[in-house]
Amino acid sequence: MSHQNLESLDVGAIRDEFPILQREFDGQQVVYLDNAATTQTPDQVVDAMSDYYRGYNANVHRGIHHLSQEASIAYEEAHDRVAEFIGADGREEVIFTKNTTEAENLIAYSWGLNELGPDDDVVLTEMEHHASLVTWQQIAKRAGADVKYIRVTSDGRLDMDHARELITDDTAMISAVHVSNTLGTVNPVSELVDIAHDHDALAFIDGAQAVPNRPVDVGALDADFYAFSGHKMAGPTGIGVLYGKQDLLEDMHPYLYGGDMITKVTYEDSTWNELPWKFEAGTPQIAEAVGLVAAIDWLEEIGMDRIRVHEEEIARYAYEQLAAEPDVEIYGPEPGPERGGLVGFNLESVHAHDLASIMNDHAVAIRAGDHCTQPLHDKLGVAASARASFYVYNTKEEVDKLVAAIDDARQLFA
Ligand code: PLP
Repeated sequence: MSHQNLESLDVGAIRDEFPILQREFDGQQVVYLDNAATTQTPDQVVDAMSDYYRGYNANVHRGIHHLSQEASIAYEEAHDRVAEFIGADGREEVIFTKNTTEAENLIAYSWGLNELGPDDDVVLTEMEHHASLVTWQQIAKRAGADVKYIRVTSDGRLDMDHARELITDDTAMISAVHVSNTLGTVNPVSELVDIAHDHDALAFIDGAQAVPNRPVDVGALDADFYAFSGHKMAGPTGIGVLYGKQDLLEDMHPYLYGGDMITKVTYEDSTWNELPWKFEAGTPQIAEAVGLVAAIDWLEEIGMDRIRVHEEEIARYAYEQLAAEPDVEIYGPEPGPERGGLVGFNLESVHAHDLASIMNDHAVAIRAGDHCTQPLHDKLGVAASARASFYVYNTKEEVDKLVAAIDDARQLFA
């Protein structure tokens, strides 16, 4: 369907493209509020992938037959489409990975292990996802470098004075999350990138929770590296994107070795293929790349700005409903441009896991746990939190069902 002529978001029409949202459990229609973990996939994406398997499935780069040529063109052009979507200069700057986590590991292993030393600092934020935190912690340990953390304030923002203190000429790399998957905070990443560059440090931005729901222009941001996952933006699992500035990627060693990433191999040594193939060893995610392109087409048809506005509106509504409950503690900033489309919270006297389980009895899908931010939860003084996260197909009525389920949990545990 076309979304072009909609005055504002026609959520009903959008929902029609997701048969999964019609599913019922014990006679109740599912309320899917676990989008920060994985979003649902519209028919357009599923159809594109099934067209690929039905019509032109073949391995890429290697074949001269028609099917391989068609698959290769689709796979290679998927890099161009992603580059256009995020404002990169071209396909050389777009590497397909398994997910955001693999993109973080690629840079940490390939750049970090070779460039970091005992005199270097890696500066992270206290709200990093384990994908970045654990990865840099381990690579820094092997390289003898220090890891420092920019403080999170009591209202869930980054302490930018502390950032300016921590990022010094000793800093080799900063890695910061664009939108926190636990607090919902939209971080001032452009300012962080500028501070890093003032000290000749590189900047990696984790955009896993940003690219799905707001316009992102990596060129304007001037980040050196930027990563995100297809499965959080209406696309398939199994594909993520690492953006990197071409000159930096040219200078880096490959992360994985094998087929496709080489130019010439002898028994003595090998030389590397051009970008981006140098970093894409082995048979890549061909169907997933086709699906990712379909997801980008679908998102852009709606408009990234409209998606951002819709999510902000739903998140504001959820925040206000939850804030009205005297025994609910909400984490992160107040609603507005500094909060993305999720709300993390705890209900006094009910463990987050119990709460999620009662929600499930109401067919309301939320997430409970540490959301891969254990140190941040330690800082918040809780072992776990509940998280409701929204996407373009969610409605205020669904938020009402969330709140009704909370009322039920409170009564059960009273
Ligand atoms: N970074 C952030 C902020 C996330 O929310 C997530 C996923 O929850 C990741 C990284 C890791 O993404 P993936 O599991 O797709 O590698």
